[in-house]
Amino acid sequence: MPLLVDYHIHTLGHDSFHQSDEELALYCQTALSRGLKEIGFAEHDYYRPHFDPERFQLQAKRFPRLVVRVGVEVDYVPGREAEIRAFLREWPFDFVIGSVHQVDGFSFDVDTNIPQYADWETTDLFRRYYACVAQAAASGLFDIIGHLDLIKIFNFVPPQDAINLALPALAAIADAGLCIELNTNGRHKPAHDFYPTQALLEECSRLGIPLTLGSDAHRPQDAGRDIHLAATLAWRAGYRKIAIFSNRRRFLVPLG
Ligand SMILES: [Zn+2]
Ligand SMILES: [Zn+2]
Repeated sequence: MPLLVDYHIHTLGHDSFHQSDEELALYCQTALSRGLKEIGFAEHDYYRPHFDPERFQLQAKRFPRLVVRVGVEVDYVPGREAEIRAFLREWPFDFVIGSVHQVDGFSFDVDTNIPQYADWETTDLFRRYYACVAQAAASGLFDIIGHLDLIKIFNFVPPQDAINLALPALAAIADAGLCIELNTNGRHKPAHDFYPTQALLEECSRLGIPLTLGSDAHRPQDAGRDIHLAATLAWRAGYRKIAIFSNRRRFLVPLG
């Protein structure tokens, strides 16, 4: 049985800050029922006033067969570095995901902002996005780069060379010794694809960039969603090990 993990789980929705113990337990139960051995909660940094990391750890005690880590997904915007550094000093997270969700103030992954794509030339948008990802990688603040090619979410993609546009960011990730995630959530978005897509994943594997797995679940029933499939794709891309984290230290364990 391969070690399956889900290192990207949200419990706070975009419209609710309610977080009951019963609901937290449901995430754990769902993950176990999908054969996962380890999960990582990773709330958005900007919800920090609304969650208590210790509650995740308390939940974990109820599920001795499941290892529960507590991380955070930080919204990377160039210029926020000092603020992020100070934020990360406040609580000892197991891992920190650095994610780019906006380019020059454009929150490109929000569906109500889709009309704003008309203001962009897609090649330029991709180039600016990956420059931001490269900056995130070089910042030294993060352990994992989140959903590497999220910029394709609504299918506004350059007619060609989308992969090549990502290469400088991959080089920055490799240079910084960072890990990426194979994020399954894009399968349920208009892009209908994992983040990153298979060709990019293969390139990451070739560059020796470590990999972890994440569902980006926002509901209990989505914990561990498609993680088995992600593990299969990772294997096909050449990965034989998977990254897990504790106290911001990375360990590589056999994928299968
Ligand atoms: Zn994200
Ligand atoms: Zn997320």
